[in-house]
Amino acid sequence: MKLTYICERCGAIIGAMNITEAEMKMLGLDPLTVDMRQDIIKSTDTEELFIYSLCDDCVDTMSLHEREWTYRGNLKLH
Ligand SMILES: [Zn+2]
Repeated sequence: MKLTYICERCGAIIGAMNITEAEMKMLGLDPLTVDMRQDIIKSTDTEELFIYSLCDDCVDTMSLHEREWTYRGNLKLH
């Protein structure tokens, strides 16, 4: 089964790999319960799994924004 990690913010493909069902279970991805997880999309056509995550760029951008907001908040207080 092919596993593809996609950034939920910008849609970039973070990585892809082929794994077996046994390997899936090791990752905590049971093929029987995977449908219930909201961050995973299962493509029935291609037997491919898409897992939503964040790419490094978006993680950086988000932490920058957080710092900016904290900074602005402090400015308002003084
Ligand atoms: Zn991204």
